[in-house]
Amino acid sequence: MSKFWSPIVASLEPYVAGEQPAIANLVKLNTNENPWGPSPQVLEAIHAATNDDLRRYPDPSARALKEAIARYHDVTPEQVFVGNGSDEVLAFIFASLLKHDAPLLYPDITYSFYPTYSRLFDIETRTIPLDADYRIRPEDYDSPCGAIILPNPNAPTGIGLPLGDIERLASAHPDEVVAVDEAYVDFGGATAIPLVATNENVIVIRTFSKSRSLAGLRVGYAIAQRPLIEALERMKDSFNSYPLDRIAQVAAVASIEDDPWFTARRDELIENRRRLTVELENRGFVVLPSQANFVFARKPGFEGKALAAALRERAVLVRHFGKPRIADFLRISIGTEAECRRLVEALDDIL
Ligand SMILES: *Cc1c(COP(=O)(O)O)cnc(C)c1O
Repeated sequence: MSKFWSPIVASLEPYVAGEQPAIANLVKLNTNENPWGPSPQVLEAIHAATNDDLRRYPDPSARALKEAIARYHDVTPEQVFVGNGSDEVLAFIFASLLKHDAPLLYPDITYSFYPTYSRLFDIETRTIPLDADYRIRPEDYDSPCGAIILPNPNAPTGIGLPLGDIERLASAHPDEVVAVDEAYVDFGGATAIPLVATNENVIVIRTFSKSRSLAGLRVGYAIAQRPLIEALERMKDSFNSYPLDRIAQVAAVASIEDDPWFTARRDELIENRRRLTVELENRGFVVLPSQANFVFARKPGFEGKALAAALRERAVLVRHFGKPRIADFLRISIGTEAECRRLVEALDDIL
C-alpha cells in the first residue's frame, strides 16, 4: 500500500504466472511452453529484421501479419486483430466486448486470468461449475447473461468441446458475445473459426505462444466479424498504437509460412502426450482426456501439493493449483521425450 496508488491498484488481484526459476538441469513442465524452438525460418527472419530500420516505428496495423493470418484461416485481413500476446488481446476483449449489465459467464475451473481481468475492468461474473467429469456442459450456459468466455480446450483440464457445442452456445445467445480462447486448439481441438462467417457474436482468440513455440515473442490474435474487431481496434488505439514491434511482426509471418515445421512438431507433441498418458496411467494416475499440450492428472492417495514439491526437489517443475476440486491435480506440460522420461523417473523415485 502507498499513498501514491490510485484506488483501483489496491483492489486488484494480479494473475500469478508459473515460475521461471534458474535451476540447473531443470525439466520445466509448468507453463505449457513448447519444448522445441521455433522454425529456423523464424530465426532467420528475426536476424534479417535486426537492422537500422529499428529506428522506425513498426506498422501500427501489422498489415502483412494480418494478411498471413487471414490466408491461413481463410478469412479476410479485416476480420483479424493482432496484439502483444493473446493475454493483451483478451484484455481488450474483456474491456470492450464482455462488460455489460448482465453477468459474464465462464467455467468455475478455467484460465485464471479471467477473474483477474473481470476485476480489473469491474465486470460482474457468474461461474458455471464443470460437471463431475470436469467437462463444460453447454446447456448449463443457457441462462440470461451479458457474454460468455471459455477456453477450448479448457485449461487446466485439457478437455475440448466439439464444434457443435460451441455452435449451440452461439445460437442460444445470439445477442451476446461468445469468446472462444483457442490457446491450445492446435493440439487436437476443433476450431470455431468457421463459425465466424455465420455468427456475428463469435470471437476466437489464438496465440503463437504454445503451438508455435513463440511465447517469448508475444503475439496473439482474434478473429471475428468487423463490428467486434472494430471494438478491439478502438480500444487498442486508445491504449498503445504499436503493440507488435517490427521483429514480432516479421517473425510471426515466417512462423505461419513454415507449415511443415509446425505440423511436424505438433504431431510429435501429440505422440508424446499419448505416451506420457500411458506411463502415468500405468502408475495409477487418473489422467483427464487432453487435447492440449499438457495433461491434468492426479494420483489417488497423494496430495497434489506434496507431489509437486517432491518433483521440484528433483528439478522437475509442474503446475499445481491450490483450488477446490483440483487441489490434488498436477498440470504437466508435455515436453520432449527425454523430459517426459525425466518426469516419469522422478515420479518412480517419489512413489
Ligand atoms: C497461455 C494462455 C493464454 C495466453 O497466451 P499468450 O499469448 O502467451 O498471452 C491465453 N489463454 C489461455 C487459456 C492460455 O493458456
